[in-house]
Amino acid sequence: MNKTAATQTAARLRLRLTATAESIVRSGHPWLFADSIREQNRAGQTGELAVIYDRNDKFLAVGFFDVDSPIRVRILHAGKPTTIDATWWQTRLAATLARRGDLFDATTTGYRLIHGESDGWPGLVLDRYGTTLVLKLYTAAWLPRLTEILSLLQEKIFCERIVLRLSRNIQAGAEKQYQRRDGQMLFGAPPEGAVVFSENGIRFEADVLRGQKTGFFLDQRDNRREVETLAAGRRVLNAFSFSGGFSVYAARGGAKSVTDLDISAHALESAKRNFALNRNFPAVAACRHETVQADAFAWIEKSPAKFDLIVLDPPSLAKRAAEREGAVRAYERLNFLGIARLQPGGILVAGSCSAHVSAAEFFDAVRRAAVKSGRKFTELKTLLHPPDHPAGFKEADYLKVIYLKFPA
Ligand code: SAH
Repeated sequence: MNKTAATQTAARLRLRLTATAESIVRSGHPWLFADSIREQNRAGQTGELAVIYDRNDKFLAVGFFDVDSPIRVRILHAGKPTTIDATWWQTRLAATLARRGDLFDATTTGYRLIHGESDGWPGLVLDRYGTTLVLKLYTAAWLPRLTEILSLLQEKIFCERIVLRLSRNIQAGAEKQYQRRDGQMLFGAPPEGAVVFSENGIRFEADVLRGQKTGFFLDQRDNRREVETLAAGRRVLNAFSFSGGFSVYAARGGAKSVTDLDISAHALESAKRNFALNRNFPAVAACRHETVQADAFAWIEKSPAKFDLIVLDPPSLAKRAAEREGAVRAYERLNFLGIARLQPGGILVAGSCSAHVSAAEFFDAVRRAAVKSGRKFTELKTLLHPPDHPAGFKEADYLKVIYLKFPA
């Protein structure tokens, strides 16, 4: 008997939890860790549905079982008993898409359609870049039903192609068991070169086959727009620039010059192309654009150059909870060094994408750096998640940005 047949004939996978885990699931949290499972009627397989019952044998929730992950179950539904069938999936997709309904006008064709757990699709992300969709999986639990999910998506979302992206930890298993590869086409022909999409009328390229995340940092859209409004007449440093997202906005907002600083030559080449794509805006054409390939921590510390607006948006500095304290210190130091590069009247835009560092901890670290600089400063604003990247539970909350101004 093959595995699928075995699953079909076997009894439903039933779980019982510790009392604490029961109340966590009741509160709507989407993750169930392996050590909170108290009873299991049989061994489970990755991707099958596990039904969770409470102490009184009442239905609590249903979710994807995942043998290889410490997050043993990702909850799909909690509350009243329900059947997860084709209609259920259709309803879920319709609700998810309805939440995007009026978020964007025609000038923005790149955004997140499905944002994992917080949209009810644990471990699955779907991004739109024009007519290209990128489906990224963070758990192997989706692999056995990928064909079903694909036809569901294609029924409701028009597209020319769908690219599959896989998080690193599931790549080997996906290839071996399902012949699925990172960057594989699920539908349509592969793009010739990078895909071009538009965000608030600015054109950007996204390397959907190989780029970080799904090819672009769509989550910083609102901050890029904010930077555009602050950039007029300023010399701008965009540190950890990636493909220059913040920079093109700053240029359109009238920045005198923009310096993209990144350790990756590949990212900086993309930043140059993104500038070229937007020369139709006179302000972009007029802006001096330069790129510096260097370690940003070292460069900011040593360079004598001064700027009027600095964006510091490093990669996550805490990959694990144990790295939280070190990350908070690193944020404080990085921003202290950044502030020293600011001219009187300058603006610091400091970001963090570490889920293990809370917004309050991060904002306080940046404020401490500002106090240490001995300069007067005012807080302009803070921004959290954009609406197409909802954060529905604590662990999903990663993005925060604070704006400080250092008056002349
Ligand atoms: N701000 C970007 C996203 C930043 S992603 C945007 O809105 O699009 C993080 C970037 O930091 C990546 O491009 C990576 O190449 C770069 N990076 C990582 N470590 C670095 C370092 N030590 N110095 C400079 N750049 C670094």
